[in-house]
Amino acid sequence: MSKYIFVTGGVVSSVGKGIAVASIGTILKSRGLSVSVLKLDPYLNVDPGTMSPYQHGEVFVTQDGAETDLDLGNYERFIDINLTQDSNTTSGQIYSAVIARERRGDFLGGTIQVVPHVTNEIKDRFKRLAEKSKADIILIEVGGTVGDIEGLPFLEAIRQMRKDAGRDNVLYIHVTLLPYLNSTGELKTKPTQHSVNELRRIGIQPDVIICRSDYPIPNNLRDKISLFCDVDREAVIPLTTVASVYEVPLVLEQEGMGKLIVDKLCMQTPETNLSEWAEMVRRLKDSQEPVNIALVGKYVELSDSYYSVREALQHAALFHNRHLNLIWVHSEQLEKTDNVDPLLRTAQGIIVPGGFGVRGIEGMIKAARYARVNKIPYFGLCLGMQVMVIEFARYALNSEKPNSTEFDPVTPYPVIDLMPDQKAVDTKGHTMRLGNYPCNLVEGTRAAKAYGCNPIQERHRHRFEFNNQFRKALQEKGLTPSGLSPDNRLVEVCEVADHPWMVACQFHPEFGSRPNRPHPLFRDFIGVAKDVLREGAQPALPLTN
Ligand code: GLN
Repeated sequence: MSKYIFVTGGVVSSVGKGIAVASIGTILKSRGLSVSVLKLDPYLNVDPGTMSPYQHGEVFVTQDGAETDLDLGNYERFIDINLTQDSNTTSGQIYSAVIARERRGDFLGGTIQVVPHVTNEIKDRFKRLAEKSKADIILIEVGGTVGDIEGLPFLEAIRQMRKDAGRDNVLYIHVTLLPYLNSTGELKTKPTQHSVNELRRIGIQPDVIICRSDYPIPNNLRDKISLFCDVDREAVIPLTTVASVYEVPLVLEQEGMGKLIVDKLCMQTPETNLSEWAEMVRRLKDSQEPVNIALVGKYVELSDSYYSVREALQHAALFHNRHLNLIWVHSEQLEKTDNVDPLLRTAQGIIVPGGFGVRGIEGMIKAARYARVNKIPYFGLCLGMQVMVIEFARYALNSEKPNSTEFDPVTPYPVIDLMPDQKAVDTKGHTMRLGNYPCNLVEGTRAAKAYGCNPIQERHRHRFEFNNQFRKALQEKGLTPSGLSPDNRLVEVCEVADHPWMVACQFHPEFGSRPNRPHPLFRDFIGVAKDVLREGAQPALPLTN
């Protein structure tokens, strides 16, 4: 039978609750326990697939094709597991399921209420994940902060779980922030006390409090939180800001997190063993020599929009003992200028990640042209592949007209076009080509060399594709299709033959990268980029994530 750990957040959002959950997973897995994770999102969207990256950050895609919260990416990277659609539940999903059942007549004669119908539906999701995953521990993160109106049904459901699953099988962890007041030079515990009071009002007494803070937390404050919040002294865990998120499991374990949890859940396990993880973090800190990578996109103001891409680059840089120096380049800025060189001059490699819509596209095409002409390593992800194909076609067909029909529906050269099975689709939610699909790599290509195995499976999220009408003409000019769907119909990977490394894929390899196991395409991209000499390449910047 699975045991449940529920993690709530207090005071403010964005204190790193997701990283704390992922880190607890890392610790517990290292004690020999199997772990699965569920993120509860209180918003009414069925999934984040229809939200702008500015609202939500990256949409993380699971192997089975769910469009989910970016925290799932952290869970996968930290715990080294592959999650499914069962690992992200939104209020939108819960309410639509309950209302669909009501319409079907499942509750004939009854009044449908938040308690018990909505809360039962939520608890069914917990139990379903436990049954399917058979994990020893189900970690459940409640999105938002305690006190949000829309989060109440989730909190009520997790409160009921202590009785449903039994006291020894449920643990509540609350993550709060201790703000620092400049005027008095001290950390304050009052907001933590208030948010714990709010939790108690709902009927939840936290067993563990993780205190986030930008400064070291003095012992007397831990005593105070323990006293006022009625939490054991050793269960008040300080978590001060660290340079890299990958340090968090080590910091939590230093405070005894692993033993604390298994003791409270009455479990017997081997000791925590984070030696491999600690070695990875040591190398991360030791890697000083920079590799400068320009990330060209239109959502660069919010780096969370490219969360997994940044992490995958980081993993690959670490593999080569390099410090990732990411240069964020706004594609609209490239669009506006006739000379992109000043913006890209220091880049040893250029990456164009995924995206939607026409804004900034011409800037990305300029970046691809700059990479091709100057022989700078280029890596295109999904939209970044479409951009590379458009740029190559403009050169090969000697016309500025080639385009994707997403951006120019009447282009005479639709080198990227809607996939046939997308033509009849007229709704937006969960209707893209999503999740894992197999792909055969073409022998002798850079892609095949990187993977070293065949066929591969990668995660997708797109509606448009390489138009086969142009495959032969572009191939003759030097654009090699290097990965194809098993029926040969879809170009999944392509590369520029006469170039040191200009490779792009229609899928999203960034979702499969792990800190200790970089994705092969990212690994080879950085491997080539690191040796590119650029004039005026900047020195390393401090770690930012
Ligand atoms: N907008 C493009 C498509 O739908 C690319 C999508 C993406 O980059 N995820 O095909």
